Amino acid sequence: MYIDRTHTYNECRFLLVVIFGQPIAFLRIRAAGWEYLLTAPKINIKSLALDELKALLAELGCKPFRAGQLFAWIYSRGAQSFDEMTDIAKTERTLLASRFDLASLGLRRQELSSDGTRKFLFELEDGHTVESVLIPEEDRQTLCISSQVGCAQACRFCITGGGGFQRNLKAYEIADQVVIVEKFLAGGRKYSPETRSVTNIVLMGMGEPLANFDEVVKALAIITGEPGLGFSTRRVTLSTAGLVPEIEKLGRSGVKVNLAVSLNATTDEVRDRIMPVNKRYPIKALLAACRHYPLEPRRRITFEYVLLHGMNDSTEDALRLTKLLRGIKAKINLIPYNPSPGSEFKRPPDAAVKRFQQILQEHDYTALIRESRGRDISAACGQLRERETKAEK
Ligand code: SAH
Repeated sequence: MYIDRTHTYNECRFLLVVIFGQPIAFLRIRAAGWEYLLTAPKINIKSLALDELKALLAELGCKPFRAGQLFAWIYSRGAQSFDEMTDIAKTERTLLASRFDLASLGLRRQELSSDGTRKFLFELEDGHTVESVLIPEEDRQTLCISSQVGCAQACRFCITGGGGFQRNLKAYEIADQVVIVEKFLAGGRKYSPETRSVTNIVLMGMGEPLANFDEVVKALAIITGEPGLGFSTRRVTLSTAGLVPEIEKLGRSGVKVNLAVSLNATTDEVRDRIMPVNKRYPIKALLAACRHYPLEPRRRITFEYVLLHGMNDSTEDALRLTKLLRGIKAKINLIPYNPSPGSEFKRPPDAAVKRFQQILQEHDYTALIRESRGRDISAACGQLRERETKAEK
C-alpha cells in the first residue's frame, strides 16, 4: 500500500491510497485534518438514473455538469472505461474509477436467422441468462428486450412462463441490452450516435415489465433520455400481460412510451385458462384501465392477440374483440402462435388468421399480422434460452 502524490481537484487537495495498483481510498485534506472519503464498494454507474448520479457526484465535489458528461460518454460514445474519457482531468478520472465501475452485460452468444432476425443471449453477473431479439424490417430495426429473468405470469402458451420466475433485472441490465447490441452491430466501426442501428425498442422479451416497475421505469429513462440513449418515446413500447394497478401507476408516472397489452382472448373463461393473471384482473377491469389510460396525442394502445387454433381464433372471437375494444384508441397485432416442441397449442391455418384480420378491418380497426420471426433460431420469447438450458443439463 502506498499513498500516491496529493492531487488538487476542484480546489480541494486529495491523497489517493493505492493497494496493489488499485485506488482504494481518497483522503480529503482539510484545515481541520483528514477526511476519510471513499472506501465503499464500487457502484455501477449504469445502475443510476441521471439524477442519482448527480447526487452522488455532488458528494464527491464534482461539477454539476459531470453527470451528463458521463452519461454522454457511456451511452452516446460507448465508453467502457474512465480512461477513454479524455476530456475529464486524469485525477478526477482516478477519483471516479475508485468509486464507480462501468461493468457491462456479457454477450454469451448470438445467432442469425435465415429471415434476418438476430438473437442475443446475455450472461449476468450471477450466471443467469436473458435474451434480446433484433428484428429487421423495411423501415426499422426493432430490438425486443427482456425485463426479468424468467416470469411469474405463467401464461400457458409462453415458454418463459413455463420456466417460472428467477429474479428482476436491474435497470442497467435492461438498458445495457441495447448498448451491447448496438456495439455488436457497429462491428469494427466506432460506436457513436451516427453508427447506431436500432430504431425501435419493445419490452416484449422475457418477463413482465410492470412486475419490475421501478427498475423498468429507470431503464426507460436511460433509453429515452438525453443524455442517455436518446430514443424517441414514440419508438419505445412496453408490453404487459395486464397488471391493472401498474398500468394505472404507469399512466400517472408521466412515462410516455407506448403501451401494448397482451389481451389474447375475448372471454374471461378462455383468458383465465391461458393467462392466470386474468383471475386477478379480468378483461373488464383491464379494458377499463386501458380506456382511462392517459394517451399522448395521436397515440393508440396496441392490443396483442396470440392466435391459438380452436381456442381464440373463431369468427365469434373476432366479433367479440371488435365490441370489447369499442371506445378505446386501439390497434391490434395478431400473432399466430409460434409452437414449441410438445406444446398443447396449435397455430391456426393462414386462412383463419386472414379471416380474423379481415373481420377486425371491416370494423375499422387497424389489425396487423405479426409473424413470430426467426423460427429457425427459436426466436419466440424465451426459446433460445430454453435451448441453452436444456443443452447444459
Ligand atoms: N409479459 C409481457 C411481455 C412479454 S411476452 C406481456 O405479456 O406482454 C410478449 C408477447 O409475446 C406477448 O404478447 C405474448 O402474448 C407473446 N407470446 C408469448 N409466447 C408466444 C408464442 N409462443 N407465440 C406467439 N406469441 C407469444
